[in-house]
Amino acid sequence: MLEHIQDRRLEKKRKRISIPEYAMALAHVASLRSEDPFRKVGAVAIDFDNRVIGTAYNGLAPGYDAGEEFWLDRDDRQKYMLHAEVNLCSLFTRGTVKLVACTTKPCTSCAQMLCAYGIKEIYYRDDYDQSEADKICRLYGMELRQLTHYPHIEYPEVEGGGEAED
Ligand SMILES: [Zn+2]
Repeated sequence: MLEHIQDRRLEKKRKRISIPEYAMALAHVASLRSEDPFRKVGAVAIDFDNRVIGTAYNGLAPGYDAGEEFWLDRDDRQKYMLHAEVNLCSLFTRGTVKLVACTTKPCTSCAQMLCAYGIKEIYYRDDYDQSEADKICRLYGMELRQLTHYPHIEYPEVEGGGEAED
């Protein structure tokens, strides 16, 4: 009987998406807000009570209005772009966030920053082969996992990802 109840509980649990899946779905939606025509990245922070602390995406500093020509030079614009993780970390203080989900694997610099903020788990959707995040996370004991299965919201007017760069 007890076994039966436990089975039913497990069944119920499976009908609910996990916290990382929830975070990645939100990160995907956040990425759609990015104005970067080449690569749209979204990120989400979850605290130790599984509450959403915030969402962010890559872009220019708030208040700066770039003209059309700004986006033409893909290489030149990169140094001005604030990565989604940078914008995300501006929303909380160190030690208050457990999990971060990013639509792209954090770059080396962002992996260092997430470490400095005391993040325990990082989930990413798209790989980024120029990143040293794997080594950084292994050394400092942070979990880094790819997660591609999550509730997708189809929105063809805006393309979410892009090919790896910078
Ligand atoms: Zn970065």
